[in-house]
Amino acid sequence: MRLEGVEVRTLDLALRGPVGTAAGVHRLRPVLLVRVVGDGAEGWGECGAMAEGTAVDPPLPVVAESLCGPVLGGVLALAGEGGGHLPDVTALTAGAADPAGRMAAAALEMAVLDCALRVTGRSLASYLGTGAPVEAGALVGIPADRTVAALRQSVDEQVGRGYPRLRLKIEPGWDEEPVRAVRLAHPDLRLQVDANGAYRLGARGAGGAERLRALDEFGLDCIEQPLAPDDLEAHAHLADTLFTPVCLDESLTSLGRLEAAVAMGACEVACLKPARLGGLLAARRAAELCRAAGVPAFVGGFFETGLGRSAHAALAGLDGFALAGDLSDPSGYLESDPFGYPGVVGGRVCPPTGPGISPPPDPDLLDRLTSDLRWFPAPA
Ligand code: MG
Repeated sequence: MRLEGVEVRTLDLALRGPVGTAAGVHRLRPVLLVRVVGDGAEGWGECGAMAEGTAVDPPLPVVAESLCGPVLGGVLALAGEGGGHLPDVTALTAGAADPAGRMAAAALEMAVLDCALRVTGRSLASYLGTGAPVEAGALVGIPADRTVAALRQSVDEQVGRGYPRLRLKIEPGWDEEPVRAVRLAHPDLRLQVDANGAYRLGARGAGGAERLRALDEFGLDCIEQPLAPDDLEAHAHLADTLFTPVCLDESLTSLGRLEAAVAMGACEVACLKPARLGGLLAARRAAELCRAAGVPAFVGGFFETGLGRSAHAALAGLDGFALAGDLSDPSGYLESDPFGYPGVVGGRVCPPTGPGISPPPDPDLLDRLTSDLRWFPAPA
């Protein structure tokens, strides 16, 4: 691709309501976007970085610094060496070794891929060899008032929207009672729980392994990230003692970590987040690894706009993604979204079929939501 330049913008988006997790409450959802201009077209990429970050994911300002600094600098230098031409998209994410660099490179990869697909008139699903409708799951956080009644109401709303799988956020002290209540109300609903690393095996009483064992009776699809992200050994031990499969999310920071976790028996289900792994193509390799190892995987989300979610809906059609991904409609959690989403029908979403990853954003809404914009011209 002959590169003209790259735009980096920050959108000030807000969540419809606070989303409580064991690791904190999400309220705002600023989004970092990348627009690549080249070959007479433009392509959009979305960065997964959130305002506050997580235990393993750097916050948005840190990722923005990496993107506008070393990551974009490296890509513009590559274009300069190539007489204005960018190398193959697979080369863009190869060099990023740190978490911020991987997230930044993932956004850039998405934008370049989107631009290249628009030039050739292909959809991302066609490029990946997918396109069939995929199951969409939704998330229910810990209610602000911590009442089972509020949780039940949120669950009923999501079930009413047709989602066949729900992921409930849990933490020590908000686990057995709320999960029992949801299970009693919805005996056949596919349920997962996500602890965001909040439990400790050695802890007695409220934070200990017995609280996780108490969840075994509810027929959960998996318990996600029960323990600290860096402790694969403890997850392997827990997986031996729990009936419910142990799923890893924050622990899976790279393909190497995924490989190690699977080999140790620490990862019986994998939540794969393309942004954290270094992009859509890295996530494709991760899904292939999971398929070969017989580990069911699903596409995990960071409250994306319709752009990121559309990319994930196309990705989720790959064989390794055996479980419903975080593919709920962004209008369910974002106050506004300049990108569209195909919509969830009967619990499934069909990835966009037009050129690129998703239809272009609404320009007026995009400008209204933009709080920061920088343009990086390609070297002449
Ligand atoms: Mg998670």
